Amino acid sequence: MNLVLLGPPGAGKGTQAERLSETFGFFHLSSGDVLRAERKRGSALGKRVAGYMDAGELVPDEIIMEVILEQVRSSPESAGFLLDGFPRTRTQAERLEEALTGEGRRTRGALSLEVPDEEIVERITGRRICPTCRRVYHVKYQPPAKPGQCDADGASLDHRSDDTVEVVEQRLRAYHEQTEPLKTFYRERDLLFEVDGSREMEAVFEGCSRIVRGLMNEAGA
Ligand code: ADP
Ligand code: AMP
Repeated sequence: MNLVLLGPPGAGKGTQAERLSETFGFFHLSSGDVLRAERKRGSALGKRVAGYMDAGELVPDEIIMEVILEQVRSSPESAGFLLDGFPRTRTQAERLEEALTGEGRRTRGALSLEVPDEEIVERITGRRICPTCRRVYHVKYQPPAKPGQCDADGASLDHRSDDTVEVVEQRLRAYHEQTEPLKTFYRERDLLFEVDGSREMEAVFEGCSRIVRGLMNEAGA
């Protein structure tokens, strides 16, 4: 079963995707992680997207589309995928559905994590990430056992260069202008599920899990 996660930057998509994938066996694909890995490798793609990412703007559809759709197509059909950060524009959503239809697959639901802008800034500025295993922490809401160190592998945690007050404003603008309208795209297809993402992580996880189980039961019925 294939799902997409919607929501503003810092809403908790990566955090929930990690838990949902562990629990339900989804193939988790984060477009932001894919792009950051390309930058780290110093690839041509990484160099093309750096300016957009640092400015908090979406990278152009034609750049992101091929790299993500290729990974979606090659994802194991048995697991089903959980897309985190893609699609982010109407064109991306339409192209995703076209690509899936061509393979006899489809998106079964879009879970939208709803978090007000006022809460986003604190989540984003306090976020820390393990550079090796990609585990996500928060200095206040999900601190590692030892400050600055990943619980899983001891690596020194990173602070993303776009996780600043200045850049987050532009990222929120991009979300409201270009990504939020996707809720209508999925609602029109009876695929939208809104989840109150402002609650504690565990409560958000329970809300998402209930929806996933409901969809799985329907699929099995
Ligand atoms: P996204 O993938 O949507 O950008 P993340 O999952 O990386 O968001 O979460 C952003 C930050 O907020 C992280 O530091 C994470 O630990 C924290 N966070 C995630 N969910 C919650 C929550 N329900 N309550 C408080 N903090 C949260
Ligand atoms: P994220 O890790 O999801 O917060 O994404 C970080 C940055 O990567 C964004 O601010 C964009 O510049 C870029 N990005 C990630 N996913 C997409 C996408 N689907 N479309 C366009 N840009 C993207």
